[in-house]
Amino acid sequence: MLYRVEGIVIRSTDYGEGNKIITLLTPDFGKQGIVVRGAKKLKSRYGALAQLFTYGEYSYYKNNSLGTLNSGEIIESYYQLREGLEKPAYAAYAAELTDRAINDDETAAFLFHQLKACQAALTEDKDPQVVLRVYEMRVVSTAGYAPILDECVHCGKQEGDFRFSFVAGGALCHNCRHRDPGAIELMDGVWKLLRLFAHLDLRRLGHITVKDSTKIQLQLVMRKWMDTHLNLNLKSRHFLDQLEKYGEMLVKPKPMADQEPLSDREVTNDAD
Ligand SMILES: [Zn+2]
Repeated sequence: MLYRVEGIVIRSTDYGEGNKIITLLTPDFGKQGIVVRGAKKLKSRYGALAQLFTYGEYSYYKNNSLGTLNSGEIIESYYQLREGLEKPAYAAYAAELTDRAINDDETAAFLFHQLKACQAALTEDKDPQVVLRVYEMRVVSTAGYAPILDECVHCGKQEGDFRFSFVAGGALCHNCRHRDPGAIELMDGVWKLLRLFAHLDLRRLGHITVKDSTKIQLQLVMRKWMDTHLNLNLKSRHFLDQLEKYGEMLVKPKPMADQEPLSDREVTNDAD
């Protein structure tokens, strides 16, 4: 049977002599595995269609689990996501997360549009720490593991101080916090963003400025949440971790010894 779909390449692996198998995220058929013959050959018309992050229209024959590409056309190549070090790392993380968290054949129209928006936002240099956190929220929601944030998971109380419980499924009020001794306190800014992200459509994301300390806690919360409920052990995350630590090293302030010592006189002048 011949299918014709729009899709985004979320995985691309070598297969035999010069071929590739790609996994597409499609709006109507979820994930679709397709063999692209000759994709690795120099003059292949279909090489670009088989590249990670490509958004295109694909026609393929499929009788069993794996399809065979018949023809296709690129709608948006997202080539920027394959250049440099950071963008490919962030985009690969979003792609692998999608691939691992979503079952085959699960209809994924909303997630498809969210992934497309995620790739577009990374291309437009929106803060990847914000883009990815919103996208993670979309993925856990699609997978059925959205945290409960607006009321106590246990008693439904909507006011007061909450702690965040990974195992209980979200917010725990003061009276119920004993139910999970591992529940943690979050900064106000993190609660705010979690609640915002829980309902935010990535297509409507503007440029949000978030403090570094808030970003770090937000990242840790989403990570531990996904580890608790999805347990994916993503390869791309290990790489991203190394990259982000390296980035941190680059912006570290100079050690004290390298700075000019302040004279007494300068200190006095400052005080005036
Ligand atoms: Zn409660």
